Amino acid sequence: MSSLVENADGSVTVKVTPLKAVISETFFKLGCSELEATRIAERLAGANLRGHDSHGVIRAPRYANYIEEGTQIPNVTVDIKIENETLAVIDGKFGFGQTVGEQAVDIGIKKALNNGLAITALQNAGHLGRIGDWAERAAEKGLVSIHMVNVRGSLIVAPFGGIERRMSTSPFCAGIPLDNGDEPIILDMATSVVAEGKALVALKGGKPLPEDAIVSEDGTITGDPKPLYGETKQGMFPNPNNGSGALRAFGNHKGSGLNFLMEMMAGALTGSGCAGTINEPKRRFCNGMFSIYLSPEAFGHSDDSFVSEVRAYVEFLKSSRPTEPGGVVLIPGEKERQVMADRLKGGVPLAKEAWKDILNAARNAGVMQSKIDDLLA
Ligand code: NAD
Repeated sequence: MSSLVENADGSVTVKVTPLKAVISETFFKLGCSELEATRIAERLAGANLRGHDSHGVIRAPRYANYIEEGTQIPNVTVDIKIENETLAVIDGKFGFGQTVGEQAVDIGIKKALNNGLAITALQNAGHLGRIGDWAERAAEKGLVSIHMVNVRGSLIVAPFGGIERRMSTSPFCAGIPLDNGDEPIILDMATSVVAEGKALVALKGGKPLPEDAIVSEDGTITGDPKPLYGETKQGMFPNPNNGSGALRAFGNHKGSGLNFLMEMMAGALTGSGCAGTINEPKRRFCNGMFSIYLSPEAFGHSDDSFVSEVRAYVEFLKSSRPTEPGGVVLIPGEKERQVMADRLKGGVPLAKEAWKDILNAARNAGVMQSKIDDLLA
């Protein structure tokens, strides 16, 4: 396959290396250091590789706008505001999540490796992207980790029983390391029926939403993403703050309750702030992330007893008779690995509109068309 295949409907399939090169060049032109630009490209394309197109390169135009508006700032180093052996409260200072997230996670990992466990409270982070990245980073060092995230200033989810937006998509993520080079087990999910980016993908002609994903202004439950975005003017990027509908929390009252917990831990406890308040419904956008890092060794697992028990349970779980003939029971993170194997070979599919926006963002950043052509050759 060449780097770029254009399909009859205008959608494209792009090989991951040239795709990363276009994204990296865009952010380099926008003032990110080469390292940060590469990191952003790596993380966004990494989300596409794992099938989370909502948190992939479709975000590049929005991130470019964030730089222009001052919502996210290139090349930031975090400040540690409070610290002891097992705790750090970290200010991300609105830096790119790909950078300040990595710095915060590395602080947590170091403390947990030294002390058996650690908690980090990251405030004011730019968009942290796919949260699974952070659990994978901890698992690479043999650590179990739990990450609770909220999105201050992003009111797009209605609480159970409500229509008006009071919550963010607040993801929950946990990682369990394995050994012998096996990929860790990663549970990584928004507490809304879908992440907002999946609504954006659907709006741009990609995969449709589940029928219960959205509640419209009149209380109708629908899979149509338009009530979330309202009218988007020609040449403008769809803004989920403009619609009169809302995303729904997954699992009715239970998902809504879990979402509330994310606001408590990642918003209130970290000091980053919750999605909004009555007095301050519009807050400056950022992610807060409350993370727990645990070393199995600290729990007395000096040999492979933890991993053996995990493997034995996975085997038991997967032995459940499938609901559909020929079906398989998947463990968290397995679907992502299957998609990644396909996309590493076949490339990343992108809807027509999404690809157009990515190329426009590159050109607007000052990447010459000839350079784009070279990168995609
Ligand atoms: P999703 O609905 O695809 O759920 C993903 C989880 O479900 C994964 O753990 C996956 O392994 C598991 N899964 C998927 N299919 C499965 C199956 N058939 N059997 C068993 N398990 C299965 O994802 P989502 O909720 O739309 O979240 C997408 C991404 O959005 C995540 O990476 C999340 O971190 C990210 N996100 C980020 C933010 C942010 O502000 N940074 C906000 C919301 C979501």
